[in-house]
Amino acid sequence: MNLKKYENLKRENKDLINLNPLQTGGKLTGNAKKVLVEFGDGYAVYDLSPGLELMEVPLIKEFINEALPKFLGADIVRIILGAREGIFNVMHSITKPGDTILVDANRHYTTITAAERANLTVVEVPNSGEPEYKINAEDYEYLIKKHKPAMILLTYPDGNYGNLPDAKKLGAIAKRHQVPYLISGAYAVGRMPISMREIGADFIIGSSQKSMASSGSIGVLGMDKKWEKIMLRKSKRYPKIEIEFLGSELRGTAIATLMASFPAVAERVNNWGKEVEKVQWFSKEMEKLGLKQAGDKPHKHDLLFFKADPFYKISLKHSRGRFFLYHELKKRGITGIKPGLTKHFKISTYGIPKEKLQHVINAFKEILDK
Ligand SMILES: *Cc1c(COP(=O)(O)O)cnc(C)c1O
Repeated sequence: MNLKKYENLKRENKDLINLNPLQTGGKLTGNAKKVLVEFGDGYAVYDLSPGLELMEVPLIKEFINEALPKFLGADIVRIILGAREGIFNVMHSITKPGDTILVDANRHYTTITAAERANLTVVEVPNSGEPEYKINAEDYEYLIKKHKPAMILLTYPDGNYGNLPDAKKLGAIAKRHQVPYLISGAYAVGRMPISMREIGADFIIGSSQKSMASSGSIGVLGMDKKWEKIMLRKSKRYPKIEIEFLGSELRGTAIATLMASFPAVAERVNNWGKEVEKVQWFSKEMEKLGLKQAGDKPHKHDLLFFKADPFYKISLKHSRGRFFLYHELKKRGITGIKPGLTKHFKISTYGIPKEKLQHVINAFKEILDK
């Protein structure tokens, strides 16, 4: 077996305009790129302050105990391995096997796998169906009364339609019924302003490689201080060690990149209004081409879902079949729609300048006209 092939890994399409929702919010800042190389060696973060445990390094301590709680509107923050692991950490700590939990039907699949790993029964709050797929906060209330769930989860926004349900209204419902409430914010934290406290949630989760301009795999978990004893319960053998996080999930290179990008991330959420204006303009232009945007309208988030019948019709006759769209876009310097998708696809406009988005619209138009 030739092992040499592993040595020079290269990215495809790296310099194209990338519309992949998974990737638009994770691009490193210039500073984070430098830090990535500086701290690329395993456990190099220990060199920040030789001799100290990571949580005792003053810069890291301040970042986790002050900067992140303020950013998330939370009392306590822990670094997690990613959004899915954080969702599991909360489920595992605050529920018992066999409990029922309530989640929105637009949830990420990892919400379900986390619940399965924690041996929970999941009840889904349905969405409104075509074309908006809305989650109605009020719909939780009846199901809370019916199932007495151990916790409720709201995906804000969801990763299919980019819908932003009324999270605050659900916060009031959760308080009224005294049920723990988790905001699954992988596409919110780091992109848009969001405050766990204002929403009235008990927990908030972000995915740093997805939306906080960080290398993976890392995320943030914010919580209300009333959960401290349960979430941060300690080992019997090692009285300082937090069991749920197996000591610490803060270990590698990713935290260095998360910290280096953070000043820019904290700043960029203030430009959210501009991002929303841009996405609404983009959606209108795409609809002029005969595509249909599903989800909230007017849209309030950069993640868009399009039903694209005109492209689907072309794919039925094209020599490259359903892969034609990917190739035609690539020829025009655009990537991020999954190869083979034409009937419907997701794209994100986050952080992409309007001129480049105009180029994208022109490209779609050209492909249609051809
Ligand atoms: C991407 C995503 C996740 C998973 O995030 P990871 O950090 O990769 O675990 C979970 N929930 C939602 C809503 C997502 O969009």
